[in-house]
Amino acid sequence: MLALARDCASLGARIRTIHHLTGLRPQELLHLLFSGQVLPPRGRAPDSREWYHGANLLHRIEASVIVANFRRLRQLGCPAAEALVEAYRYYQSMHRQPLRISFDRAFDLAAHTEGLWIAKAASFQLASCPRCGSEFLDTLGGMDTASRSCPFCQLLDRYDRDPRLITSYVVPPPISADIIVHLAPIRGASPSPDGEIPVTPAPLPPAKP
Ligand SMILES: [Zn+2]
Repeated sequence: MLALARDCASLGARIRTIHHLTGLRPQELLHLLFSGQVLPPRGRAPDSREWYHGANLLHRIEASVIVANFRRLRQLGCPAAEALVEAYRYYQSMHRQPLRISFDRAFDLAAHTEGLWIAKAASFQLASCPRCGSEFLDTLGGMDTASRSCPFCQLLDRYDRDPRLITSYVVPPPISADIIVHLAPIRGASPSPDGEIPVTPAPLPPAKP
């Protein structure tokens, strides 16, 4: 549990998040993880149910990729906390800093997709786009369910009008079984000093499995 707590802290998690993921007491975590100069994030924890309605396209795409990978790992039998850490690590390895989605945000999204930890029931789901086959995060049972179009298709539509968008953004491929096998060596790896992420152009949008 302490290793998991340290992993979460290294990804920028706040105490409350680590507490929910590990079951360790907040006071204990503060003492164990943050006794030095580095303080955990403070202030109000993110609530994605409000946030997602106003989130811009790139935020919605990145949130979708994280949750899709989290769900994929869950379906492979990975415990929820570990699945979240690995899905977030993968996200971190594919994007340059500063990241649009914080670990606390990813935690909140995963919680509200599965009805875990802080959420009694699911309020998000992964929807499958009938046009491109991508999985994207959608609200569950809300007024606007199915009224939002797929963010990956929106990105493609916008790209047709503004090719500059693509130079600043490449959607990473979804996590695969091969990648999961290689996740262990990736642990602890950080992007190269100039912040560049390896530029293997990903299929856009990800192909239907
Ligand atoms: Zn689509």
